[in-house]
Amino acid sequence: MAKLSIRNLDFSGKEVLMRVDFNVPLKDGVITDDTRIQAAVPTIRHLVDGGAKLVLCSHLGRPKGGPEAKYSLAPTAAHLGSILGKTVKLAPDCVGVEAAAMRAALGAGEVLILENTRFHAEEEANDKDFAKQLAGSAEIYVNDAFGTAHRAHASTEGVTHFIPTSAMGFLMERELQYLCDELEKPAKPFLVIMGGAKVSDKIQVITALMEKADAFIIGGAMANTFRKAQGYHTGNSRVEADKLDLALEILAKAKAKGVRFLLPADTRITQEFKDGAATQVTAPYEQGGETPDGWEGIDIGDVAIREFSDEVAKARTIIWNGPMGVFEIENFAKGTRAIAEAVAQATTKGAVTIIGGGDSVTAVNQFGLDDKMTFISTGGGASLELLEGKELPGVAALNNA
Ligand code: AMP
Repeated sequence: MAKLSIRNLDFSGKEVLMRVDFNVPLKDGVITDDTRIQAAVPTIRHLVDGGAKLVLCSHLGRPKGGPEAKYSLAPTAAHLGSILGKTVKLAPDCVGVEAAAMRAALGAGEVLILENTRFHAEEEANDKDFAKQLAGSAEIYVNDAFGTAHRAHASTEGVTHFIPTSAMGFLMERELQYLCDELEKPAKPFLVIMGGAKVSDKIQVITALMEKADAFIIGGAMANTFRKAQGYHTGNSRVEADKLDLALEILAKAKAKGVRFLLPADTRITQEFKDGAATQVTAPYEQGGETPDGWEGIDIGDVAIREFSDEVAKARTIIWNGPMGVFEIENFAKGTRAIAEAVAQATTKGAVTIIGGGDSVTAVNQFGLDDKMTFISTGGGASLELLEGKELPGVAALNNA
């Protein structure tokens, strides 16, 4: 069901409570990456320009249910102020007398940030009274915090029961457009690239996308689990020993459905898991290649890179979640970089390419290819849950269009 968009609302002179995801990385009180703040700016500007009395709320980090200076949203208020070129005030708490007074004093086009919602345990407990206080006298609620939309917390779900109108912001709208609508009837061939640490984290996504995908590419430590399940020797590679049956079930299912399921033909291996470590590539598995004891697979091999890149070039819709190897270490990043480049190339040739959150986003940014993808999700857990076909509580709670 399509959700109400802020495009269709009049904000003039109205108090608007907007949930943002300002959970930014901080070092000694300084924001080290402001992507999440920048991502919310188009919606914030739209509301400010529309004359809203704008109240922002967010969580930051994992405080233990009480105030902690290191998790204060103060740096985000200052940073947003400098982006907007106007004062952005910070309320000392997200609820209570002072916050209420500051909200009431807001003029049209002014912006206030409430202090970290997770300074109250009631936030994650989705406590009704707390949600009611947080809602205050807001007339419209806007949710642009896609990254937390899979959580039914007071600021993402509870407040909607106490505010007459609840709508999605531009960021939320784009996330839903690419991770839901675009994948409803994807242009074919539809390729799913999965990598990362564990099969168990991605099993539900793989199962859900198996219904629509023409092909899967599997990389990362996940691939070791599949190869081990097939009976190959994986040496000291990271493997989920209790997921071998599951891996075989997935392979059987893909076969039964006629979905091509590509595992890396060969593997880049090392004896030392560290920066600057020497690596080798195994012979292809089909030709007897295996990972010897004392060695571990840390990336896909060169034949795999070639085969996977060819597959990427054929696809018209691509969704990618999880790196092909340990991309954080330069010597182990070749496979992830090659696939990122192949996906970027596919975008230029007209494919819809979606980077579905988490570490693949970090990788694509690291390689400077972020502006070469059709869409990069800002959610990790939230994008996975959407791809699993689940309804996100923070989305379900919004008004229908
Ligand atoms: P995920 O969060 O599940 O997407 O997993 C991402 C993590 O998996 C990254 O930190 C990678 O370094 C790690 N990873 C990818 N491939 C391997 C591998 N072959 N062995 C160990 N870790 C890996």
